[in-house]
Amino acid sequence: MFVEGSDPYGKPMSTFTKFKLPPLGYAYDSLEPAYSAELLELHYAGHHRAYVDGLNRSLEGLAEMRGKGDFARINQLQKDLAFNYSGHLLHSLFWRNLEPNEGAPPSGQLEFRIKDAFGSTDAFRRQFGAAGAALQGSGWVALTYDPMQETLLIEQFHDHENGHAVGTVPLLVMDMWEHAYYLQYRNKKEKWIVAFWELVNWGDVARRLDNAVCVDLALETRGNVIETATSRFRFARR
Ligand code: MN
Repeated sequence: MFVEGSDPYGKPMSTFTKFKLPPLGYAYDSLEPAYSAELLELHYAGHHRAYVDGLNRSLEGLAEMRGKGDFARINQLQKDLAFNYSGHLLHSLFWRNLEPNEGAPPSGQLEFRIKDAFGSTDAFRRQFGAAGAALQGSGWVALTYDPMQETLLIEQFHDHENGHAVGTVPLLVMDMWEHAYYLQYRNKKEKWIVAFWELVNWGDVARRLDNAVCVDLALETRGNVIETATSRFRFARR
């Protein structure tokens, strides 16, 4: 992604491969009627693209700073990087999280861990929705996996990058920025949250959890090889 190198004439330089807006992967009308084609196009091609452009500008600025050896603007550029990179990553995840689900609930390990962490799927949905409805300002609600404690959490992300725990892995994200719903739902953010539940691609969320639990970052040191193999294995042995 980020390549330090030199040009063919040996002049020292640093370059990077520019980030691109990733493919949406489905047609703009795929999520209708819960999410209109007009809103999806504006959100993806307009708002998400702006974060990709901002991310590239931040990286360009940092490369320029290194080239000049002048780090006077470093705090601003690090903030710009965190904001735009997080915005890009969250939107990329959001598009994968969405697919009309026809009412199918979560299943398998995802269902098991949701019940383990929140008591029931309904309790999880109520807390997740409440975190969205009450969110102050712009931000997201996320179902995250904490690989150190090996548990699920519901977290609010203020803007894209503030107010959540360090090191958790987002599995399911709900965009609560006004740009995510205002064109279709106006100031009725609860209606957007109801529509969101019709669009959760539980298969995508389950796949992300299945992969995330394989990362062994648990804080406790375990005594034998079998116990440290993977969380997936430990889950299977319960
Ligand atoms: Mn958005």
